[in-house]
Amino acid sequence: MNVADSEVVSGILQRAGYVFTQEISDADVILVNTCAVRDNAEQRIYGRLGLFNRYKKRNPGLLIGILGCMAERLRFELVERERLVDMVIGPDEYRKLPLLIEQASEGERGIAVRLSRVENYEDITPLRTDGVCAWISVMRGCDKFCTFCVVPFTRGRERSRSLQSVVQEVLMLAERGFKEVTLLGQNVNSYRDGDYDFADLMRSVAEVDRSVRVRFTTSHPQDMSDKLIETIASNDNICKYIHLPVQSGSDRILKLMNRTYTIDHYVGLVEKIRRAMPGVSLTTDIISGFPSETEGDHQVTLDLVNEMKYDGGYTFKYSPRENTKAWGMKDDVSEEEKGRRVGEVTQALHKISLALNQSMIGTIERILVERHSKKSDCEFMGRTDTNRTVIFPRNGEYPGEYIDVLIQRANSATLFGTRVDAENADGGNRLGALQETSL
Ligand code: SAH
Ligand code: SF4
Repeated sequence: MNVADSEVVSGILQRAGYVFTQEISDADVILVNTCAVRDNAEQRIYGRLGLFNRYKKRNPGLLIGILGCMAERLRFELVERERLVDMVIGPDEYRKLPLLIEQASEGERGIAVRLSRVENYEDITPLRTDGVCAWISVMRGCDKFCTFCVVPFTRGRERSRSLQSVVQEVLMLAERGFKEVTLLGQNVNSYRDGDYDFADLMRSVAEVDRSVRVRFTTSHPQDMSDKLIETIASNDNICKYIHLPVQSGSDRILKLMNRTYTIDHYVGLVEKIRRAMPGVSLTTDIISGFPSETEGDHQVTLDLVNEMKYDGGYTFKYSPRENTKAWGMKDDVSEEEKGRRVGEVTQALHKISLALNQSMIGTIERILVERHSKKSDCEFMGRTDTNRTVIFPRNGEYPGEYIDVLIQRANSATLFGTRVDAENADGGNRLGALQETSL
């Protein structure tokens, strides 16, 4: 979401005549987009500000600005008390940036942190470098108020972009050669444009160009509709990958978190999704050590993770956030205990992904080639429809191409293989079956 927001900011600045530099020491303005969802994200920003202030000593005219959720939360501390930055700009005030930069260059420190009920930046063309995958924010804010979460306070109320503006953007991206779009919202199930809901939006986006893959995140388990499941299932270019954060396996904790669903509902939903889309990939988020979480609550979370056989997941130690309802609850699970629990959940998730990934050895997977692998220029990486990363030796492929890869090796995070000719690729699992019989 922050990558998408930074592209909106870049679009606004480019329109105002600013240009980018690759060298931080050449910059006249440094803007840092921030996250406030957990304390450690904020601590990293403080570290970064220390570094930028060293550049400022060398270049006193340099302006430093904080964008995003942390700006919303720590406006006065950052500008007035600590005087670490010249500007703080919240997520709904990016249009004011050119003006604030101008004022700051005349010595006037600026704060713009009003939240809006309507701002959705739909008329701003985000500045993206050409590539394969693009993020598109289709809605902003969140009205769910999970008791641990600062997002409703830092990003404000829910509001959606028009279906037409999203479809138009996807059309432009397809013409520029993009091959994958991910529609973003804190809770995409709440998307609304008049009579159109999120399923309508997904279908319209999928119809723009069938060679462009469509992904989305995040769906709240309380109100993922049958219509949305049907839409994902019936459109080949909508990826069969759903991030469905459960947060905890304990009904008591879910209630304290105000997640508004029970484990029974969640398990029923997962069954429904898997029935509609066999082979669908499912991932989750889990928070360990929420106030009053007992060993018993932790164990049922582990049980749920094992039962759901998630393809992957993100795990977090509970981090108390000011203003949230849980801030008033006693943070009574020790750091050490949180660490142990989160470690166990992470390990359980790893074990499942490893087994699932290894079961794919010998199969042929269609992937979208994205870029060089991080480790070597001789290798490329791409992803399967189900969002698995695949690394393969480069042999004339180009980013944006769909190719078939025979999977030969796997760890919990990545599959490794080699390209096979398309004519060998029909009937996906045939080779796997052959290999098994020959073994
Ligand atoms: N809107 C998304 C979540 C956005 S925040 C959703 O509802 O799924 C991403 C993840 O950060 C959350 O799913 C949660 O697992 C984690 N998170 C949010 N607040 C947190 C906190 N105070 N402490 C620890 N983890 C937190
Ligand atoms: Fe936060 Fe809950 Fe909204 Fe997600 S749905 S952003 S966790 S309040």
